[in-house]
Amino acid sequence: MTTDFAWIRPEPSGLYIRPADVWIDPARAVPRALITHGHADHARGGHGVTMATSPTLAIMRERYGDVGEARALVYGERVALGGGVDATLLPAGHVLGSAQILLECGGERVVVTGDFKRRADPTCAPFVAAACDVLITEATFGLPVFRHPPIGEEIAKLLAAREAEPGRAILVGAYALGKAQRVIAELRTAGYHDPIWLHGAMERMCRLYEEHGVALGPLRSVAGAPKGALEGAIVLCPPSALTDRWSRRLPDPLTAMASGWMRVRQRVRQRGVELPLVISDHADWDELTQTIVEVDPAQTWITHGREEALLRWCTLHQRSARALALVGYEDEAE
Ligand SMILES: [Zn+2]
Ligand SMILES: [Zn+2]
Repeated sequence: MTTDFAWIRPEPSGLYIRPADVWIDPARAVPRALITHGHADHARGGHGVTMATSPTLAIMRERYGDVGEARALVYGERVALGGGVDATLLPAGHVLGSAQILLECGGERVVVTGDFKRRADPTCAPFVAAACDVLITEATFGLPVFRHPPIGEEIAKLLAAREAEPGRAILVGAYALGKAQRVIAELRTAGYHDPIWLHGAMERMCRLYEEHGVALGPLRSVAGAPKGALEGAIVLCPPSALTDRWSRRLPDPLTAMASGWMRVRQRVRQRGVELPLVISDHADWDELTQTIVEVDPAQTWITHGREEALLRWCTLHQRSARALALVGYEDEAE
């Protein structure tokens, strides 16, 4: 087996597929871009040609308006990028439309995970493990301390807080793309069918999910709602709105936040969160290492987060690995 892989190059602003002149999730505008998913640190506007799943393209249009020449790709469909490189998108289980990218060139197979998780998520297609020579994996929660609890336990905490505090609004900070819809869908799975109230910044993305077949149940806008209607209600807002003036319209809000970072006490304190919910759309430590074992690549390239610990784990387990220095990826709110 050759271990050259000179056709794919980690550059500071993204992964560059040289023979095809295509960038993956570039941090700047480029002529041709392949986008793994709609989060702002991966999907930027201004590219000449944008290739992605159709939900990701819809999310980008929602955010940036025009996305230039758009090419919608379907999971499992192998397409020629040019220069002898083929690409196939595979589900990443991260958010609606999220994809891993399988690249094939001269018999060499490289998988770029983008952001991913292995847990079940009713709002998106589940992760598919694909055999490859090089696995380029994210490592947002790449420390052994990060082990996410089952989401059912966190949703139960949220519902218990609501039962215990009937006069208060339960205000949940959640990233507007992915996390919010997953929390809503999991509340429905847990048998909660009352209206869920939304901050204005959540409404369009929830509608986009529903247009793509993800049922979210009754949703209401907080704007214009009488204060009394929000007693005992569950309200979702972006994390930045948890403590701003906006939240004063709610009756004695109990602030919760849904994020993998809620494992870290200091972050809970910084945000003034009463009810931390450890809910993440990223692989935790066990999912990261399990994925490397399962895919069993000849090389693992680690990016996007806490590279050092995962690098050390690979070395300890006689696996060839390197850390990539890519810039511009930030998942503070996920
Ligand atoms: Zn993401
Ligand atoms: Zn990311």
